[in-house]
Amino acid sequence: MQSIQRHRVWLGLVAVFVVLGVALGCWRLAYLRQFGEVERQVQDRLTINLRSVESEIERFRYLPGVIGQDGRVVATLQQRGSTTPAEAANLYLQAVRDMSGADELYVLNLSGETIAASNWNEPGSFVGHNYAFRPYFLDAMAMGSGRFYAVGVTTGKPGYFLSSRVDVEGQPVGVVVAKVDMGPLALTWAAAGEMSAVADRDGIVFLSGDPRWNYRPLQALTGDTIELLQAERRYDGVDIAAAAPLAPPEDAVAGSLLINLPDDTYLLGRRAIEPDGWQLLSALPLEPVEREARLMGGLAALIAILGLGALVFANQRRQIVRLKLEQNVILERRVAERTQALAHEVEERRRTEAELRATQENLIHAAKLAALGRMSAAIVHEVSQPLSALDNTLAAADLHAQRDAPDEVHRTLGNARNLLRRMQRTVKHLRTFSSRRDPGPPEAVNIATVLDAALDIVAPQARDGAVRVEKAVGPDLPRVAGNAVRLEQVFINLVLNAIEATAEADKREVRVTALSDERGVSVEIADTGPGIPQTVRERLFEPFFTTKSTGESLGLGLSISRTLVEEFGGALRFDVRPEGGTLVSVVLPLYRAEAAHKRLASA
Ligand code: ADP
Repeated sequence: MQSIQRHRVWLGLVAVFVVLGVALGCWRLAYLRQFGEVERQVQDRLTINLRSVESEIERFRYLPGVIGQDGRVVATLQQRGSTTPAEAANLYLQAVRDMSGADELYVLNLSGETIAASNWNEPGSFVGHNYAFRPYFLDAMAMGSGRFYAVGVTTGKPGYFLSSRVDVEGQPVGVVVAKVDMGPLALTWAAAGEMSAVADRDGIVFLSGDPRWNYRPLQALTGDTIELLQAERRYDGVDIAAAAPLAPPEDAVAGSLLINLPDDTYLLGRRAIEPDGWQLLSALPLEPVEREARLMGGLAALIAILGLGALVFANQRRQIVRLKLEQNVILERRVAERTQALAHEVEERRRTEAELRATQENLIHAAKLAALGRMSAAIVHEVSQPLSALDNTLAAADLHAQRDAPDEVHRTLGNARNLLRRMQRTVKHLRTFSSRRDPGPPEAVNIATVLDAALDIVAPQARDGAVRVEKAVGPDLPRVAGNAVRLEQVFINLVLNAIEATAEADKREVRVTALSDERGVSVEIADTGPGIPQTVRERLFEPFFTTKSTGESLGLGLSISRTLVEEFGGALRFDVRPEGGTLVSVVLPLYRAEAAHKRLASA
C-alpha cells in the first residue's frame, strides 16, 4: 500500500517535471522564433530608413561646391581683411536657401569668420561669428570638403553641416557651408510611431523619432570622447557626459542590443552610414515576443496536461479491464471449485441415501418379521380356536348320531359348518392380504360403478341392522386410476364398518358421496355412529387391530384398505364429524394414460 503511494508520488513529480519541461521548451522555442522575426523586421526598417537618411544628406552634398563657384561669393571672399558683408552674396545665399530647402547657407573666410550668410538679416544671424574650431571648416581647409553634425553654436538648433573650400587660382579663399536640418526625418519617424534614430561615430544619438533617445550615448562614453565633444562643441549646451547610456553593453543578445526604456525592453538594430561613421538605429519592443512565448508555453503546458490526463485515463481503463478479467478468472475458478464441491456433495448424498435405503430395508425386513410373528400368532389364534370347537362340535354330532337324535345332529353339524365358514372367511382375507403386493398397472375405473357394486353387496347387512344407506354421486365423474375389484373391496370394508358403527345409535344412517375436483375424485362415507376415540384412532391402521368382540372381526380391513388406496396413489383419512359420527374420505387420483404407461414401463 505504502509502495503504491510512493509510486504515485513519483509519478506525480515526473508529470509535473514533464509539464514544466514541455512548457519551458515551447516557451524558449517560441521566444527564439519570435525574436528572429522581430530582428528581421528591425533589419527591414533599417534598410528603408538608410535610404531616406542617405538621400536626405545626398540632396545637399553638391550645394556648397556649387555656391563656391558663384562670382558673388568669390568676390566677397576676395575682399581680404574686410568684415563688411557683401550684400549681393547675402541675397544670393538667401535665395538659394529658400529654393533648395537647406536650413542655412553661409560663407567663411580663411580665418573661419562668417562673411556672408542666408540669415544675414535675421535674428541669430551667423554673420560675424567665427567657426574655425568646427571640424567641417578644418576638414574643408585641409581636404577640400568636410561634413559634420552638430548643434548650432549660434542657433542652438542641430543640423548637418556640409562644407566645401573655395579656391581661386589654386589658392583657397574661404569655405562655403550648407546647414541641413534633418529634423523633418525625425518628425516622420515620430509620426509613424517608429523607434528609429541616428547616432554619431561615438554612439551618441542626435536624431530620433523618440525624444527620450536624444543626446544619449548607446554605451558609456570614455573620457577622451567627452573631451573631444567639448573641444568640437558638437552638442553645444547639452550635457552628454551626464546622460544615461541607452543600452548597457552586457545586454547584447546575438549581436543585437537590448535597450531598457521605462515602458518596455526593445531590440535595437544598427546599420553603419558611411562616410561619417554614423549608425542608423531602429528598435522594436520585445513585449509581443514575450507575450507570444508565454502563450505558447501555456498552450504547451495545457496540451501536456491533457496528454498526461489522457495517458492516465487510458492506463486506468487498462487496469480496470485487467481487474475485470482477473475477477472473471477468479469467478470461473470459484464456480469450478463449487461445482466440484457440489459433485462431491451429490456423491456423498447418494452414498448416504444408499446407506439409508439399506438400513431402511433392513428395518423393514425386521418389521416384516415382527409382523409375520404377530400375524402367525393371530392366525393360530383365529384358526386353532374354531378348529378345536369344530373338533368338539363334530364329537357332539357323533354322540347325537349314536343316540339317534337327528335334530341334535342337524343342529350340531350346522354349528360345525358355521365354524368352517368362519375359518374360510379368515383364509379369504389372508389371501387378499398376501396377494396385495402386486396391484398390477392402474386401470381407468368408473368410481360410480364401483360404489354401486359395493353398496349392492352390503345391502343385506344394512337391511338387517335397519340402517339407511344413501348415495350421492356426482354426474359424469372422471375416471380414476386403480383396480375396480380392489377398490370395491375397499369400499365394501369402509361402508360395512360405518354400518356396524351405527348399530347402537338412535339414528342409523350412512351417507356415501362422491365429488371430483382438479386433484381427483373424493369419496366420503359419513355415519351417525359414536365416532372414534383418540386412542383408537392412533391404532386404526394396525393389522389385526379391532374393537369388535364378535369373532367375525379380524382387524385387517383398514390396514388392507389403506395399503390398496395408497398403492393407487390415493389417500385415506378418518375424521370426527362435528355433529357426531365418523367421516371417512378416500381421495383417488384421476386416470392419465401417459402416467399409466410410465408406471407400466418402470414396473
Ligand atoms: P374390523 O372391522 O374387523 O374391526 P377394521 O380394520 O375394519 O377391522 O376396523 C378396525 C377398527 O376401527 C374397528 O374395530 C373399529 O373400532 C374402528 N372403526 C372402523 N370404522 C369405524 C367407524 N366408521 N366408526 C367407528 N369406528 C370405526
